Amino acid sequence: MKYELVVGLEVHCQLNTVSKAFCGCSAQFGKSANTNVCPVCLALPGALPVLNRRVVEDAVKLGLATGCSIAPHSVLARKNYFYPDLPKGYQISQFEEPICSEGMVHIDAGEGKRDIRLIRIHIEEDAGKSIHDIGEETYIDLNRSGVPLLEIVSYPDLRTPKEASAYLQKVRQIVKYLGISDGNMEEGSLRCDANVSLRPVGQEEYGTRSEIKNMNSFKNVEKAIEYEVERHTAILESGGVILQETRLWDADKGETRSMRGKEFAHDYRYFPDPDLVPVLVDQEMIDRILLELPEFPEERAVRFTEEYAIPAYDAAVLTVERELADYFEETVKISGDAKASSNWVMGEVMRMLKESYLDIAEFSIRPQRLGALITLIGKGVISNTIAKQVFELMLKSGDAPAEIVEREGLAQVSDSSAIEAVVQGILDANPGQLAAYRGGKTKLLGFFVGQCMSQTKGKANPQMVNEVLLKKLEG
Ligand code: ZN
Ligand code: MN
Repeated sequence: MKYELVVGLEVHCQLNTVSKAFCGCSAQFGKSANTNVCPVCLALPGALPVLNRRVVEDAVKLGLATGCSIAPHSVLARKNYFYPDLPKGYQISQFEEPICSEGMVHIDAGEGKRDIRLIRIHIEEDAGKSIHDIGEETYIDLNRSGVPLLEIVSYPDLRTPKEASAYLQKVRQIVKYLGISDGNMEEGSLRCDANVSLRPVGQEEYGTRSEIKNMNSFKNVEKAIEYEVERHTAILESGGVILQETRLWDADKGETRSMRGKEFAHDYRYFPDPDLVPVLVDQEMIDRILLELPEFPEERAVRFTEEYAIPAYDAAVLTVERELADYFEETVKISGDAKASSNWVMGEVMRMLKESYLDIAEFSIRPQRLGALITLIGKGVISNTIAKQVFELMLKSGDAPAEIVEREGLAQVSDSSAIEAVVQGILDANPGQLAAYRGGKTKLLGFFVGQCMSQTKGKANPQMVNEVLLKKLEG
């Protein structure tokens, strides 16, 4: 039988607020264990939570960016479960009345555009962290307890492992463009659970699903879903029954394994948190946030093709990240040459970022400097080839391009008498090739150009070398 894959994703996105969701503790990552804590996030008796306004604004931002309806009135609820890293014995979350619902994320996994519907986006708090790798004991770090999260729940609209990964990348792009999260998957700022099931092609009804946890990279999301497809198919084809359960992805072994039977909503005994007032969002707040929304990648890419006349492909690559797009625009402002700027950013700059595992924000050559370098090429002071050397030297020294060109004597030789002297020297030194050229082997032009360029260490203006050579070879 032929089966169709059905996937829905639940994405937890950690917000980059200064303080936690319900207390004034710092939400900063990477501090010594149990230093960012207070009576509220330690769940000491009598401590009362107060919702951080930024969390509401960030939720509204994401909701508006994904076309959700924003609830004017929503409720924080207690989700009860027992786990060592959950000091209150419940997590503050949203259940019956989430702040955002019914949105849409547009993806393109290589087979055309697809719309993935969102069921909801709700506010919740993170739990602490259990640490198992110190000696025999398990330790608890509550720094993360109470850090704000948005949970983004999609409809089961995804049909391939690639689409699931494309969707997750899109969500990451959106939260990063909005500036509400760093979207860092390795540090756990973006966590994703997948609900995976199969159904016979043509069947309306969904099959029994398994929920996969612990996939901490885009690649792992794809691999874990691929693994589940094979596992489900094997069970179904042998006449077996899929159990509804939660499974853990083991990236080292490349397999999922059963963690526990899947819990149902009623297991959590949700009820409105009596310590917290309802969350109210008025039109004024929505209007204000609408004005703050950034230009999104698709619109920005279209503008790039129109304003800078660069190819759609370049525009798409340059707008993948907001900071990269900003970098490009700053560079064009200085250089005045959009196509050259796009070539440099997509070529040398992105290659360096990849090699050194850096973000564009951390890259030492700022747009002013790159723009100045491109300007030098435009003015004919240096050739493109020399510019690449200058770029390397800029990385090493941190100096301005003009300074480097001056110091290293890299300025292009465009002085015609100097070039004529070089050309004459090369012709005199290669009488055999000269005779062959004049005898009809005109392909030797490349040889002569190469000789001239290497003698001048690439600094001769290549166009002038060509002209002078042709003149002398013919004469
Ligand atoms: Zn606290
Ligand atoms: Mn959750």
